[in-house]
Amino acid sequence: MADTPFAFASLEGKRALVTGASKGIGRAIAQELALTLHQGAGAREAAVDDHELERAERVRPAVAAAQLLDLIWPILVLLGIETVRIDAAAPNPFLKLRFVHYPWTHSLLMAIVWGIGFALGYRARTGYGRGAAVVGALVVSHWVLDWITHRPDLQLAPGFAPRVGLGLWTSAAATVAVEGLLFVAGLAAYARTTRPRDRAGTWGFWGFVAFLVVAYASILAGGEPPSPQVGAASALIGWALIPWIAWFDRHREPTPLQPGQP
Ligand SMILES: [Zn+2]
Repeated sequence: MADTPFAFASLEGKRALVTGASKGIGRAIAQELALTLHQGAGAREAAVDDHELERAERVRPAVAAAQLLDLIWPILVLLGIETVRIDAAAPNPFLKLRFVHYPWTHSLLMAIVWGIGFALGYRARTGYGRGAAVVGALVVSHWVLDWITHRPDLQLAPGFAPRVGLGLWTSAAATVAVEGLLFVAGLAAYARTTRPRDRAGTWGFWGFVAFLVVAYASILAGGEPPSPQVGAASALIGWALIPWIAWFDRHREPTPLQPGQP
């Protein structure tokens, strides 16, 4: 209890994130996650008391969890443990990077192992059992979304030969449509459930959105990295996005409950 090393925010955010949002799967999912991370007073461990975790202690781990497998593969490629190749003749920009061997980050079994490890670490740090379950599920959700998008290059377990992947990426048009919709739905959910507290909360957030759009456009514009190592090194930028998100989120707050909303 008293030895929990975190400052706690007020309970206000809890109610705010319950508001609005009755439409859209993406919205519903985002909200469910936000809720789970915000509430859980009944289920969480005694160590968390009945306070809220500091906002950064929810946002940072949630972002890191969803991205975890992609944060780690570039390191393993640079260490020579996993292998990607550049496919300059690929029919569209989403297929330029060929994942030849990456079972330690991107097999289903290892995604679950990473998820359990991340959840245990989160719980040890915060004492918040329900939040730990959510971040663990976020880690595994990455594999599921990769399974939808990747060509059949995902193993189920290291040493297990069959590869799976539904291959959304083989159609550039379908990829842009699906990913664009998800992106806008996520943005809308976040922009509606939070509001800026100051300029950093506005421009930090919209700057981040602009960065993602430009990064996506530059992928679409084609061009492939000169080598797998350069590709992996540039993928390390994912690590920098976590403090960026945590920073602008610190300058935002939950949108207050509107009269008339449930
Ligand atoms: Zn991935």
